[in-house]
Amino acid sequence: MTEGFCPQPSEDQLQVAAWVHEFSERVIRPAAQEWDEREETPWPVIEEAAKAGLYSLDFMANSLTDKSGLQLALAAEELSWGDAGIALAILGTGLAVSAIFMSGTPEQQGEWLPQCYGTPDDIKLAAFAVSEPDAGSDVSSLKTRAAYDGTKDEWVINGTKTWITNGGLANTHVVVAQVDPELGSRGHASFVVPEGTPGISQGRKFKKLGIRASHTAEVVLDECRVPNACLLGGKERLDERLARAREGTRTASQVAMGTFEASRPYVAAQALGVARAAYEYALEYAKERRQFGRAIIENQAISFALADMRTRVDAARLLVWRAAWMGRNGRPFSAAEGSQSKLYAGETAVWVTEHAVQILGGAGYVREHPVERWYRDSKIFTIFEGTSEIQRLVIARAISGLRVN
Ligand SMILES: Cc1cc2nc3c(=O)[nH]c(=O)nc-3n(C[C@H](O)[C@H](O)[C@H](O)COP(=O)(O)OP(=O)(O)OC[C@H]3O[C@@H](n4cnc5c(N)ncnc54)[C@H](O)[C@@H]3O)c2cc1C
Repeated sequence: MTEGFCPQPSEDQLQVAAWVHEFSERVIRPAAQEWDEREETPWPVIEEAAKAGLYSLDFMANSLTDKSGLQLALAAEELSWGDAGIALAILGTGLAVSAIFMSGTPEQQGEWLPQCYGTPDDIKLAAFAVSEPDAGSDVSSLKTRAAYDGTKDEWVINGTKTWITNGGLANTHVVVAQVDPELGSRGHASFVVPEGTPGISQGRKFKKLGIRASHTAEVVLDECRVPNACLLGGKERLDERLARAREGTRTASQVAMGTFEASRPYVAAQALGVARAAYEYALEYAKERRQFGRAIIENQAISFALADMRTRVDAARLLVWRAAWMGRNGRPFSAAEGSQSKLYAGETAVWVTEHAVQILGGAGYVREHPVERWYRDSKIFTIFEGTSEIQRLVIARAISGLRVN
């Protein structure tokens, strides 16, 4: 299954990782506290990233076509090591880009992908909108409806999306909607809603516990009309898929599960970045801080905690790289290895940051040190892109072959 997998990045990949790390250390880390407190999209940092070529279609396309899958994992870890909220402000566009990349026709990719990023002088953002107030973990119950209007060759979309990264702020939205409610998740289709389309607007913007430099909001679609050309993959392919679903054959919804498995390691890599940042900080602090006449790291209670933190970080990275490699090399996720990586890295981020706060004591609880922010930031990784419970469900079903509930 993993024959050929080599957990050793190439020289080129290590160079890219070092370049992203340098950007993260020089630009992201110093800006992290300010944007966490402002709870706004960090435009100046995105501009710097665009000028450096990090926020760009080129960088994402190279990462999405890298044969080992490791390059994006390395970059996501390094960005998130700088700050998870700012990292998501930079990487969030990638969610919509991946959807267009995976489901769009070559013409659609050529038209929409460049518009997701814009240029360093005219930066654009994109958003990927699936979740709804009544459809979070249970994606099959989406209520957002897309109806085809044959007289105008357009789709009319109505519904409300919630918790959307870059929602409403984005220039381009990719919206997943129901086209045949009787088919549940097999009746879903994805639509590009281009910049300036009437009928799409931002609803509530959410104030959050962590990753506060990333914008999260509702997206309201009210008689939002898009040309048929905005249906990702095209109408012919959709009609064929719906016909197969009505006959009960395997359809794109099951294929979509494979897509999730392939994207989860990159969210896991972001969790890993936060965990590593907290581990490194706590290690240095424990060497410096003296109590009872010795460095606190000389107590087993502290050094064993650090040993466990390091072990979990390294174990998470191996799971992330294995799943990233499998996804890119078309290997079947027979034990839901993508979900394993997300589950383990997400819970590792929470565990490691909590221990980092403990190792810093009072200093870990106040904003003079970043571990307090990392602790808050880490929690999202057990929630979005599938909660930990949903990852366990996916893994349990994969290993048992049963419809575990
Ligand atoms: C900051 C942020 C950014 C986000 N960005 C995006 C985005 O860009 N695009 C997007 O589409 N969505 C986004 N989301 C939504 C996110 O993916 C959902 O929040 C997530 O899938 C969980 O859905 P929910 O919040 O409705 O929780 P619910 O589904 O209501 O779950 C509540 C609890 O019940 C548990 N639960 C539910 N069903 C089961 C089950 N069958 N077995 C066991 N336990 C279960 C869950 O694990 C959880 O603990 C974002 C969310 C946040 C907070």
